[in-house]
Amino acid sequence: MIFDTIIIGAGPAGASAAIYAARAGLSVRWLDNRFIPGGQISDSSCVDNYPGLPGISGADLGEAMAKHAANFSMEPVREKVLKLAFNNEDKTWSVHTKKNDYQARTIIYAAGAAHRRLNIPGEEELSGSGVSYCASCDGAFFKGQDTVVIGGGNTACEDALFLTKLCRKVYLVHRRDELRADRILQELVKKTDNLEIIWNHIPEKIEGDTCVTGLGIKSTMPHAAEEQAARIIEASGVFIAVGMVPNSALLSGIASLDETGYVIAGEDCAASAPGLFAAGDVRTKPLRQIVTAVADGANAVTSVQKYLHETGNSAQNK
Ligand code: NAP
Repeated sequence: MIFDTIIIGAGPAGASAAIYAARAGLSVRWLDNRFIPGGQISDSSCVDNYPGLPGISGADLGEAMAKHAANFSMEPVREKVLKLAFNNEDKTWSVHTKKNDYQARTIIYAAGAAHRRLNIPGEEELSGSGVSYCASCDGAFFKGQDTVVIGGGNTACEDALFLTKLCRKVYLVHRRDELRADRILQELVKKTDNLEIIWNHIPEKIEGDTCVTGLGIKSTMPHAAEEQAARIIEASGVFIAVGMVPNSALLSGIASLDETGYVIAGEDCAASAPGLFAAGDVRTKPLRQIVTAVADGANAVTSVQKYLHETGNSAQNK
């Protein structure tokens, strides 16, 4: 069978694409390698900017989206995609997974982004033993203890605020003297008693043999006082929240990526290869949010319909 489209990814962009594709009557295979619905948002303790659902947890929102798609008989198949290829002769895409080979006229690539690593000593060795990328998943292990969050964006601030409710003390280590996070979060962070911001410092080494005992940090200021230049913060948990990197490796050599690896595509989600549409955080765009991801899912399906029509493969022509 040749599917009209194969959707890769079951985060908000993929779920939205699945709902729109089902309603458009397209034949769809939906693939995702995770068992929890929602993609990245399943790690978020509180989503407070998705219209109509104030304060919902990311896990609940992800599940609600998956249930909504299931109402249209759309459920992601749990398979990891290993290879994608465009066949010039019949103008179809081959999708090779661990278990199957599929064929489709179009691809909606909504594979999202992954946590950026710091690549400092101790990070990999102590991952899961005090080093975490998800405060809402792992915060409870650090009840009553001291923890450090690294980063200055929305995720770092949200993680730090979440941890203050569980931990004795939370340090927020940021490499500049100004946070990148939304103003409302900055204000909350600054007025929380058991949260201390350590400005102008970068992490150098995560300390500990079998589990984390601290974080070595270094000042970014050229003339920092000696005791501030390099020191160790004692803590049993280190939460790394320094942004995301796009999951675009599968498209390397297939579609144009920007210098940081995002798939170059406009609001119509059309990537540089025929019948390939990039939706959600993996696409070049000015704002990566749940609302913009779900918008992409809808736009990608509209573009797929247009492409199928133009190539003589629309539902009406079958
Ligand atoms: P982000 O906004 O890119 O912030 C990453 C932070 O990590 C920045 O403060 C950056 O410092 C710092 N950083 C990067 N590399 C570093 C390194 N090697 N060492 C030390 N610090 C480093 O990432 P994010 O917070 O994960 O957010 C990603 C996107 O999701 C954003 O668009 C964000 O607005 C959105 N988001 C939204 C919500 C919400 O609205 N509820 C929640 C979470 C995320 P600099 O500031 O110096 O660059």
